[in-house]
Amino acid sequence: MDQVQDNVTIKRIENDYDKEIVLVSDYENFDIKKVPLYDALILDYTERDKCLKALRDVRGSGIESIYLIPLFVLSIAEIKNQEIVELADGIINNIQTDTINTFVENVKSKRRQLKPFNMNAEINKNLIKMLRFSFSRDKELKPVKDRHHIIGFKYPILSLSLGDDNARMQIQTVHEAVEKEFFKAEYVDRLHLCGNCSSGFLNYKELDPETNSSHLETENLIHHFTCAYIGPESDFVRGDQYICPKCNKTLRHIGVDYDKPSVMYHVVGSDRYFQEPVMKAECMSCGRQNEVEGLQQYDVYNLALTEEGKEEAIQPKGSQSVQDVVYSGFITYSTFGTFLRYEIERVKTSTRNSSIGLIRLNITSKMESELGTRYGKIIEEISSFISNNTDSSCILSRSMHSFFILFPDTPLEKCQMKIEKIKSAVIELLKNNVKDQNINVHSTVREITPTSEYQTVLNDLRASILND
Ligand SMILES: [Zn+2]
Ligand SMILES: [Zn+2]
Repeated sequence: MDQVQDNVTIKRIENDYDKEIVLVSDYENFDIKKVPLYDALILDYTERDKCLKALRDVRGSGIESIYLIPLFVLSIAEIKNQEIVELADGIINNIQTDTINTFVENVKSKRRQLKPFNMNAEINKNLIKMLRFSFSRDKELKPVKDRHHIIGFKYPILSLSLGDDNARMQIQTVHEAVEKEFFKAEYVDRLHLCGNCSSGFLNYKELDPETNSSHLETENLIHHFTCAYIGPESDFVRGDQYICPKCNKTLRHIGVDYDKPSVMYHVVGSDRYFQEPVMKAECMSCGRQNEVEGLQQYDVYNLALTEEGKEEAIQPKGSQSVQDVVYSGFITYSTFGTFLRYEIERVKTSTRNSSIGLIRLNITSKMESELGTRYGKIIEEISSFISNNTDSSCILSRSMHSFFILFPDTPLEKCQMKIEKIKSAVIELLKNNVKDQNINVHSTVREITPTSEYQTVLNDLRASILND
């Protein structure tokens, strides 16, 4: 029944290649379900908002034959919107069917290589989408600035598939992509995000440490040499003169009989003065008052597909690789996440904080293959060393060559000491066993407080190491 409508709204472009290349100008009748029937889509940019919406609908689809369709945006004017640049396969100002045909053929040959896979809990389908999109058009994925996005930066193809939990899912997915070396990460920028909800929309402010007020004004401090009195400038002002409130003398020359040694903060509307304000970053999304040191550091990268990434795009395996054996005393990473959540709940009712530490061997996939069978042995030895040298109350997990250790009821300094000890032992162990490779070992620790959020704790731990 849409047949007649189609003829009006969807214009088939004549070509010598027997391809269904269609131009969409009237978006009211554009039906996304028909996309798999076409070889290529050209979206007319005359109606910008509708064009962008159609582009987002296509690329945001979870169906491969829709989101992988070759798609061009037709515009006479230059388009600066980076999201369009990222999502479209090209911005064109005229239709050249030979060029489009070449592109379509390239994407087709890549798509023929893609193998079906069984969805399982270990497979992150958003990551597979990123991989397949990047692979099918040899495209580097670039982060795009977006003030409407919670982090402030998004990877358009990924962001479209994520729901409400966009920030956390983005951080997690990109982290997984880089840690598994599916993408080579090229640094673009560093952000600081809310430690609770990962929002990048923060209000940095100076506060009175006592009353928490941000309604502050600064005032010069005056030091009267003659009588040694020090007080705020306003205490000295009498008309257009400075008169010392202590000795009643008139102040004459700065540097001679008085000085302005520093500034004081004054809480407006009160008589409270103080010297050192605290800096807080209030989250405009969840309201948390973050300590500036407690902000989550997050780096954004250009992502270029690696050989491993290509393999994963073609045949997704998730994390079920042979190396993902669980060593005795260790629990899986996902169970560890659950334990961590329980631990945060427990800390809320306990008087003591807990800590968590991470030790990571910096082994690239190239080193891993050069190590061959020794790789598994090394991981096994380190695992048993860690399990023999931590208290039985500690909870251990391993993901690739990262070792996570949860220390219940352990203050941060103590955890730090233990982690340092383990780290030096691991370095020693590597030195003795692997003479031909230089494997760096990184470590980091974090405190678990009643306000911790488990995913943030894990992301933050891993991020701090990647940023070394
Ligand atoms: Zn004085
Ligand atoms: Zn927040």
